[in-house]
Amino acid sequence: MNVDFLIVGQGVAGSALAWTLDQRGCSVVLADDPALPMASTVAAGIVNPLTGRKLVRTWKADELFPFLHTFYTQIEKDLGVRFFQAKNIYRPFRSLDEKTAYLAYVSDPEIQPYIEKLVDDEAYSPAIHNPFGGIEVTQGGWLDLTEFVRIVKGYFIKKNQYFEGRILPDDLTISDDKVEWQGLTIGKVIFCDGVQARENPLFDWLPYNPVKGQVLTAVVENYSIKNIVNQGVFILPVREGLLKIGATYTWHDLDWQTTADGREFLESKVQQILKVPYTVVAQQAGIRPSTKDRRPFVGLHPMHPSVGIFGGMGTKGVSLAPYLAEQFARHLLDGEDLEPEANISRCVSLLSRSE
Ligand SMILES: Cc1cc2nc3c(=O)[nH]c(=O)nc-3n(C[C@H](O)[C@H](O)[C@H](O)COP(=O)(O)OP(=O)(O)OC[C@H]3O[C@@H](n4cnc5c(N)ncnc54)[C@H](O)[C@@H]3O)c2cc1C
Repeated sequence: MNVDFLIVGQGVAGSALAWTLDQRGCSVVLADDPALPMASTVAAGIVNPLTGRKLVRTWKADELFPFLHTFYTQIEKDLGVRFFQAKNIYRPFRSLDEKTAYLAYVSDPEIQPYIEKLVDDEAYSPAIHNPFGGIEVTQGGWLDLTEFVRIVKGYFIKKNQYFEGRILPDDLTISDDKVEWQGLTIGKVIFCDGVQARENPLFDWLPYNPVKGQVLTAVVENYSIKNIVNQGVFILPVREGLLKIGATYTWHDLDWQTTADGREFLESKVQQILKVPYTVVAQQAGIRPSTKDRRPFVGLHPMHPSVGIFGGMGTKGVSLAPYLAEQFARHLLDGEDLEPEANISRCVSLLSRSE
């Protein structure tokens, strides 16, 4: 049997790419090993065009954000499901000085399109400390990643194009124009294996810089805010009376275990902004597939053009995956150039050094 693509790994990257190629009329087998950890189901699923204390505009935000809103809502319409909600991100000012600095910064014409003109600070006051007011970042949102992954998996299972289990690179017979695996002749195999790409002998030369992260789930009473609140940590309402609070960033102890330190850090931060009582009911940890130059890894292997990678999504898989999946599909199917900053060809000198 012949298929056009085998996608290995079904986090947000594999899901977005498999969907995009399927919609272009390609035959796609999507594979994932549930025995391996997945960052996507730990992630909060927030999309935010202005991030960090300095409200830095996300790389390619002007392209990524309109695209992702359409991408996720179109799948919702096509399949009659819900997993995406547009939400503003409220940033309470820490001080009058910060207020002055933020207001000057957001008057920049490049930043202004991401700032809500009128903010109702009082709507936040019952639950959030905001004595100096705050700003709202627009074009943000929340993807319920567990639901998104479940829905995309179901779509491919229904088409009989889903494989549950591990795909080992050693089990692939790779030639220039095809790959053979378990009786299938595959046009191209694309690895969307997240941080596990570091152990993939085909792509272990790529310079990753993984970042561990932890999030808390908490129940809360009398919290009616629908938007995301962010000041050092985010507070994301996922449904009535349930919040996600996150996230930590650490570059050591890169395992998937939660820690008391992680919880203490998040609780100390959230207590500075949340006025209402809450109870932590769960804690999760995951590893973000971040890269040394903070740009994703997209492209075909320089020596084996029938295998490729779509990963390195770092802290922003939900924002990056839809737009880059479209770019990659156009590269694979129409021969269009890849975004140079995301193309793995930028790292090719490391491949020759690793061999
Ligand atoms: C605490 C935390 C909070 C985060 N919050 C956000 C957020 O709010 N917004 C955001 O955009 N991002 C967030 N992130 C980052 C986000 O998790 C990543 O950008 C994204 O999930 C990466 O997706 P991925 O599909 O590349 O990898 P993954 O989700 O890790 O998926 C890779 C999949 O590949 C499978 N796999 C690997 N090897 C094989 C194999 N050989 N055979 C079969 N299957 C294989 C694994 O089982 C896994 O399911 C957060 C991350 C963490 C840890």
